[in-house]
Amino acid sequence: MSDPPASSFAKSLFTGRLPDEMVMPYPRLGRDEAGRVDALIAAAREFLDAQYDPVRVERERWVGDAVIRGLGERGLLGLYVSPQYGGQGLSQSGYCRVMEEFGSYDGSLSVVLGVHQSIGMKPIHLFGTDDQKARFLPDLAAGRKLAGFALTEANAGSDVESIQSYAERQADGSYLLNGEKRWIGNGGKDVVCGFARCEKGLVALILERGMPGFDAPDRYDTLGLRGNDLRRLTFRDVRVPRENVLGAPGDGFRIAVHTLNNGRMSLGTGVVGATKRLIDLAVRYTTAREQFGRPLADFELVEDKVSWMVSYLYGFESMAYLTTGLVDAGVPDYSLESAITKIAGSEFYWYAVNRLFQLMGGAAYMADSPVAKALRDARVFPIFEGANDVLRAFVALSGLKAVADEVADLREVNLADPIRSIGILADYVAHRISRTVRPDRLDAAHPELRSHGDRVAEHVGQLRATAEKLLRMHGRDIQLRQRQQKRLANAVTDIYAQIATISRTSALFDDQGIEASGQERYIATLFCDRAAARVAEQFDRVDDNDDKQNHSIARLTYNRGGYTPRLL
Ligand SMILES: Cc1cc2nc3c(=O)[nH]c(=O)nc-3n(C[C@H](O)[C@H](O)[C@H](O)COP(=O)(O)OP(=O)(O)OC[C@H]3O[C@@H](n4cnc5c(N)ncnc54)[C@H](O)[C@@H]3O)c2cc1C
Repeated sequence: MSDPPASSFAKSLFTGRLPDEMVMPYPRLGRDEAGRVDALIAAAREFLDAQYDPVRVERERWVGDAVIRGLGERGLLGLYVSPQYGGQGLSQSGYCRVMEEFGSYDGSLSVVLGVHQSIGMKPIHLFGTDDQKARFLPDLAAGRKLAGFALTEANAGSDVESIQSYAERQADGSYLLNGEKRWIGNGGKDVVCGFARCEKGLVALILERGMPGFDAPDRYDTLGLRGNDLRRLTFRDVRVPRENVLGAPGDGFRIAVHTLNNGRMSLGTGVVGATKRLIDLAVRYTTAREQFGRPLADFELVEDKVSWMVSYLYGFESMAYLTTGLVDAGVPDYSLESAITKIAGSEFYWYAVNRLFQLMGGAAYMADSPVAKALRDARVFPIFEGANDVLRAFVALSGLKAVADEVADLREVNLADPIRSIGILADYVAHRISRTVRPDRLDAAHPELRSHGDRVAEHVGQLRATAEKLLRMHGRDIQLRQRQQKRLANAVTDIYAQIATISRTSALFDDQGIEASGQERYIATLFCDRAAARVAEQFDRVDDNDDKQNHSIARLTYNRGGYTPRLL
C-alpha cells in the first residue's frame, strides 16, 4: 500500500521517506506574478536608490516617514495583502522575492518592513474577520500606518508560556489589558498585534495607538539595526474592544506560532539579498586592492572565502525558495522547513559577514564601513524570531515525534505522548531499521545529478535509523539530550538543503541544458559535497562524541563559579 500524502516534507525525512513529488519540479513563479514581482522590485530600486541613505538612517535612528510613505505609494507595504484591501496579492514566494531586495539595501529597512508585513499585520491577514481586515489592512498596505508584533516580555523570551500580561474578559466581550512588553519593533507606531494571558490561555489583541492606557514610553538603544523603532510597551487598564480580538480567546498561542513560522521565511530570503551584496563588495574590494604586488583576489585563501560564500548562498537560496514554494503549494505543515531556513540563514549570514570583514582587513573595522554596520546588524538574527538553539530543539523533537507517532500507528497503540511511551518501541525498531536500509530515491533528479540524489537518499535512511536509535537509547529523556538533538537538526538541515539544490539545478538543466549551466553545476556539486560531508560527521558524532566531558566541565565550572585551573 502506498503512503498517504505527507503533511510535512521535513518530518517525512525523519521517518525515512523522500516524497520527491513535494519538492520536484522546483517551484517557480507563474509568468504573470513574475512580471509583477519584477515591476515591484524595479520600483523599489528606483525609489531607494534615490531616497534611501543607510548612514542617515543610522544617524537619525529611523528609516524615515517619507521612505515609508514612498514605499507604500508604490505598493511595497502590502505585498501579500489581497487587492480587495489595497494590496498586491502576491504568493509567499513572490512576497519573499521582493523582501529579498530590501535585504540587499539595509538591515534596518529590511527589519522594519519585515516586522510590519511578516509579523505585524500578518495575524490580521491570516486570522482577522472580514471586518478587521477592512478596518486595518488598507491603511497598513498603503503605508499610512505601520504594524508591530508584541510577544516578548521580561520573563517571556524563548519561553512564550511565561507571558504575564493579563487580559481580563469583560461582560461585553471586550478585554481589560494590563502588563508590559519589551523589545518591540515598530512599537511606537500605529497598530500592534499583542498577546496576553486570558482565562483560556493566550488571546491575540489588535492594539491601536491612542487607546487610553496603551503607551510606548521608552526606546531602546541597540548595537545594530539602529533604524528600528524598538520599544517598551506598557498596558494600564487598556480597554480592548471586542472587535479588536483576533480569533477566539485561547487562540493566541496558535496565532503567534503560525505568524512566526511565516516571518522566519522572509528573514531567510532577506539574508539571500544581503549576502548577494556582500559578495559584490568582496569582488570589488579584493580585485581592486593589491598587496605583495597582486590583487588580494588572486590569493588562494581569498578565493576560498569567496567561493564558500557563493556555493553556500546557492544552497541556501535553493532551500529558502523551496520552502516558500511549499507554502504556495498548500503543504499544511511547513514549520520545520521555516525554522531550518531561519537557523541556516542567520548563521550563514553571520559567518559570511565575518569572512568579508576579514577580507577587507582594517578598512572593515572603521566605523563608517558598511561591513562594520552589517556585522552589528547581523548579530541579532540568530537570536530573534526564535533563538536558534531553541529552534534546533524544536526541529529535532518534532522529527523524533514523527518517528514515534509512526510507530504508534503501526502497533495500533494510541500514544498521546509517544516520547513517554517509548518502552513499546523496542521490537519495532529492528523492523524499521532493516526497512530503511533501502531508502526512497530522489527519482525525479536530473540524471546528471543522480549520484548526489542517491547519496542524499542514503542519508535520509540514516536519519531515520539514527532518530529511532536515539529514541530507543534515551526514551523520554531524549527531550533533555540537546547535544544529540542538535546533531539531528544539523543533519536534516543539510539534507534538506541538498535536496533543494538538486531540485533547483535539475530544473535549470531541463530549462537550459547542462552545457549552458556549467557554472551552476560546479557550484551545486561543491555545495552538495560539503553538505553531505557535514551530514556524515553529524551522524558519526552521535556515537563518537565528548558529550560526557562537556557536561562535566560545564557543571564543574558552574559549581566553582568560573575558570579555576591554575597556570603552573
Ligand atoms: C533587536 C531585537 C528586536 C526584537 N523585536 C521583537 C519584536 O518585534 N517583537 C517581539 O515580540 N520580540 C522581539 N524581540 C525579542 C526576541 O524575539 C527575543 O529576544 C527572543 O525571543 C529571545 O528571547 P530572550 O532574548 O529573552 O532570550 P532567552 O529566552 O533568555 O534566551 C537566551 C539564550 O539562552 C539559550 N536558551 C534559551 N532557552 C533555551 C533552551 N530551551 N534550550 C537551549 N538554549 C536555550 C539560547 O542560547 C538563547 O539565545 C526582539 C529582540 C531584539 C534583540
